[in-house]
Amino acid sequence: RPIGYAIVGLGSYATRQIMPNFAGCDHARLVALVSGTPEKLQRYGEQYNIPATHHYSYADYDRIRNNPDIDVVYVVLPNSMHAEYSIRAAQAGKHVMCEKPMAISVAECQAMIGASRKAGKLLMIGYRSRFEPYNRLAIDLARRGHVGPTRIITSEHGFPIKPNQWRLDRPLSGGGSLMDIGIYSLNATRYLSGEEPVSVSAIEATDRSDRRFRTVEDRISFLLRFPSGIEATCVSSYSSAHNAYRVVGTQGWIDMEPATPYEGHAMRIRKDGVVSPRVLPAPSKNQFAGQLDHLAECIMNGTTPIVPGEEGLADLRVIEAIYRSAAEGRTIAMTA
Ligand code: NAD
Repeated sequence: RPIGYAIVGLGSYATRQIMPNFAGCDHARLVALVSGTPEKLQRYGEQYNIPATHHYSYADYDRIRNNPDIDVVYVVLPNSMHAEYSIRAAQAGKHVMCEKPMAISVAECQAMIGASRKAGKLLMIGYRSRFEPYNRLAIDLARRGHVGPTRIITSEHGFPIKPNQWRLDRPLSGGGSLMDIGIYSLNATRYLSGEEPVSVSAIEATDRSDRRFRTVEDRISFLLRFPSGIEATCVSSYSSAHNAYRVVGTQGWIDMEPATPYEGHAMRIRKDGVVSPRVLPAPSKNQFAGQLDHLAECIMNGTTPIVPGEEGLADLRVIEAIYRSAAEGRTIAMTA
């Protein structure tokens, strides 16, 4: 039978992007809902044909243990709740899919990895771009040296954030634009290079008189050095609109703009002075269905996801170094 998913947290991302995309899956299906709002359980239960026996509140969340239809718990809650709900899912004997950022600290990521390992269950992070055809093509081209060996990666991710939401409340978000949207730039530099940074320098620019930014940062720029000599310069922002990366090699560049949206990606390549107007990847299922099916196939085949908990941990290690560099005004060396 297909692998059964329970969704925890029926907010914007879960209900608008994830839940509708089970329809395009071959191996994953939506079987249970967890929410603190009875009206949402009722509404989405009817929409997705999920009976009341498979509805849970946060108070009776641990009862998922007794429901054999649930194979995976997909945590789509505010960032600071990821660790607790992922660990409780593992303790209930379930595989876990957890949204990005994996958690709000390295220590939490390590606890999540430990809990899933102890339970003998898989843990995967919702890095959807790894299942998105343009990004997959960009990874392949960059790592094959299509425009020569990569020397520089630039990436910018940001959007002007609306006030009054958990993303701007540090206890729930764990940080500002970097945790939420800048992580796409960071993650891209790691997947495009296939390397881990050896040093991190960052500066922050936040207008603390803007009421949105009382507890979290607005803009933070960071420079990463990689072992092969690749340098990545990235901008993360909560006050400007951009979503792009560019991989620059010795013979030209691969440009993605927008790079990591839900849809509408575009790629251009300049090689040896010639610009190809628009490069198209081979058609395949969309990134949401691809991500959901990937964990399902890993469970069925006994394989490890391409974005396991260790990937989320690797990003949090760099995020902590970025914040430390900006706070202390110095370059941070990453130790293995
Ligand atoms: P949201 O605010 O729309 O949804 C959050 C849900 O959590 C809501 O249903 C809310 O009721 C529930 N919740 C439970 N306890 C809460 C509390 N104490 N405070 C606030 N809400 C509480 O947020 P979202 O945009 O759906 O984001 C949820 C998670 O998904 C975040 O970790 C975010 O980073 C991630 N996300 C990922 C992507 C992606 O493209 N991969 C996109 C958007 C969001």
